Amino acid sequence: MKFSTNSIVAIAAIVASGATTTQAFAPSHYPHRTSVSLYQSTEVSQESTPTTEKKPTKKEKRLQYMKDPNFHRKGFKEVRPNVEKTMETQFKSPLVDELKTSNYVIERDGVRVHLAKDFGFCWGVERSIALAYEAVEHFPGRTVHITNELIHNPEVNDNLQKMNVQFIEKLGEGKKDFSKVEDGDVVILPAFGASFEEMSLMNEKNVEVVDTTCPWVSKVWNTVDQHQRKGLTSVIHGKYGHEETIATTSFCEDYICVKDYKEAEMVADYIVNGGDKEAFLKYFEKAVSKGFDPDTMLDKVGLANQTTMYKKETRAIGQLMQKAMMKKFGPVDAKDHYLEFDTICDATQVSKIDLLSSIFYESSPA
Ligand code: SF4
Repeated sequence: MKFSTNSIVAIAAIVASGATTTQAFAPSHYPHRTSVSLYQSTEVSQESTPTTEKKPTKKEKRLQYMKDPNFHRKGFKEVRPNVEKTMETQFKSPLVDELKTSNYVIERDGVRVHLAKDFGFCWGVERSIALAYEAVEHFPGRTVHITNELIHNPEVNDNLQKMNVQFIEKLGEGKKDFSKVEDGDVVILPAFGASFEEMSLMNEKNVEVVDTTCPWVSKVWNTVDQHQRKGLTSVIHGKYGHEETIATTSFCEDYICVKDYKEAEMVADYIVNGGDKEAFLKYFEKAVSKGFDPDTMLDKVGLANQTTMYKKETRAIGQLMQKAMMKKFGPVDAKDHYLEFDTICDATQVSKIDLLSSIFYESSPA
């Protein structure tokens, strides 16, 4: 998989104007928002924290939780060889091996079977499974819980159940029953991550936390933290009910989620033309932060995404936001109103595109 680092995609208008993103995102005029130094770096810092005396941000608190000796992110070396063997037994398939050695296509009884060239778990998922399995082996005799499905794969979740991992019960409306988590237990956080509230709760309890969050997901959390510091509202391309987006929004202050380009157009239209505020808020009722005001909170926005969304659509939504800001504030000032970091994970995109293109290529007329 491609694993780009802290590259920043600045909008074309910013580049063209020669202005820096630091200049572009001076402190917001909104009184409720955190101000930011004009000299602050625009790089997506993974671990840095400011030294001012103000109330710590959610990111700063998360980093504090992660420093706790009971918080584990790197796995447990002594059980790794065993876990590697287990994973090989569970996930290795003779059929897949045959497909890979047959140019990714085989034919049986008149049925042609294609295999995507990038078939298999992405790096983040493989890491998450390994960390979860290692946690179970490293803490024998302890009750192990998981806050959600580890990944969206029934086989993997069934395996965890067979290993006696307890799935935290969902109570509806985003609530969960953590009452069964007791002192000394182990709690696994899944690949999509856990919300800020859940991390805070685990930090209060006397438990071992094993964090399997994919680093690409926490990179998005760092991005929304940057938005907050720069006085921007996060426009998140994602589904507000998806576990990953629930976690991401929990690290935001002001946000709006758009599930697709059509919803992004509604937001862009409101930015440019305003509109029926009540109807807008009714439509995005579950997709916005508490107290969201589209009349004041859409003046400066930054883009973030749910890592599983389609990359081309995320990019198109980014362009739509840029254009909306250009229309509203003019091409020169637009740079003060939109910011985009590259947080798109290529892993799922590659698999989807690869599978589709191989089938399309096969079925297209010569
Ligand atoms: S963010 Fe990318 S690498 Fe991480 S789990 Fe999702 S698809 Fe895999």
